[in-house]
Amino acid sequence: MKTLREYIKEAEEKKIAIGHFNISNLEALHGIYNAAKKFNLPIIIGLSEGEESFIGREEAVALIHAIRKRDNYPIFLNGDHHYGFESVKSALDAGYDSAIIDAVKLSLEENILLTKKCVNYAKELSKTENRDILIEAELGFIGTSSKVLDKIPEGISEATMTKPEDAKYFVEKTGIDLLAPSVGNIHGMVKGGNPKLDVKKIKEIRETCGVPLVLHGGSGISDEDFTNAIKAGICMIHINTEIRVAYREALEKFLKENPNEIAPYKILQPAVEVIEKTVEARLKLFNNIKWKNVYANLKYN
Ligand SMILES: [Zn+2]
Repeated sequence: MKTLREYIKEAEEKKIAIGHFNISNLEALHGIYNAAKKFNLPIIIGLSEGEESFIGREEAVALIHAIRKRDNYPIFLNGDHHYGFESVKSALDAGYDSAIIDAVKLSLEENILLTKKCVNYAKELSKTENRDILIEAELGFIGTSSKVLDKIPEGISEATMTKPEDAKYFVEKTGIDLLAPSVGNIHGMVKGGNPKLDVKKIKEIRETCGVPLVLHGGSGISDEDFTNAIKAGICMIHINTEIRVAYREALEKFLKENPNEIAPYKILQPAVEVIEKTVEARLKLFNNIKWKNVYANLKYN
C-alpha cells in the first residue's frame, strides 16, 4: 500500500482532493468508510482533541488499523487541530499517520517554534518506527468551531488570510509537510451561505510555499468553489459540520417516528446511511467522478 504522502502527491498530479472526514463515533466511521469503498478511494479520518477524548485515542487507532489490515485499504488517521506539543506527540505515539499542530493563536515566531518541535518529533519517530508521519500546520485565521453559524465569525477578514510570502517563510522555517491556509474558508457552516474562496490566492500560495495545501472548513462551500480550489492546488479537503448536521437530523427523525425503539443499532442505522450519502456526494465532487463512469472507472491506483 502507498503511504499517505504518496497518495497526496498522486492527488496533486491528478488534480483531485483526498477527503478528510471527522468522526465522534463508530457510526460516522462506518458511514464514511462505506462511501469511500464504493469508489475505492483513499480516505482520511480526522479526530479533533474533543473527538479524540470522546472516542479514545488508542481505540481510534485500533479501529482504523483493523480496517486497514482486514481490507488492505488506504484509510488513514489524522490528529485534527491539536493545540500543543504533548497532544501531537501522544497522537503520533499512539499510531496516528499525521497530525495538525494548530498554533495560529500564538505569534508567528511562537507558532514556528512549536510547529518545528512537532516536525522534528515526527521525523524522529518516523525513523525509529519506520513510518512516514506527516505534520500539517495552519497559517492565517479560519475560525475554530464546526457548528452551524448565524454569521461569519468575528476576526475573519481579508487581513487574516494567508499571505503567500508568509506561507513560504513559515514552510521554510518549520519543514511542515502540509499547509492549511486561510483563503476565504471558515470552520463551520454559515446560515445563508459560506463566503467565496479566493482561488487566485490558493494558486499563489501553492506556487510560493512549495508544499501541498489542505482546505479546512469545507462544509458549506459551493461545488464550483471546490472544483476551482482543487484545480488551483488544494489536495485535501476537510468536512465535519455537514456530517454532524446529517447525523443529528437522521437521529431526530428516527426517534420521532419510532418513539418506542430502544435498540441502538436500529436507532443509529439511518444516521450511518445519511453520513454515507453525504460523504459519497463529497467524494464524487472532490475526485471528479461523474455518475456514468463511476462503476466503470473506479480504480484509484
Ligand atoms: Zn480545521
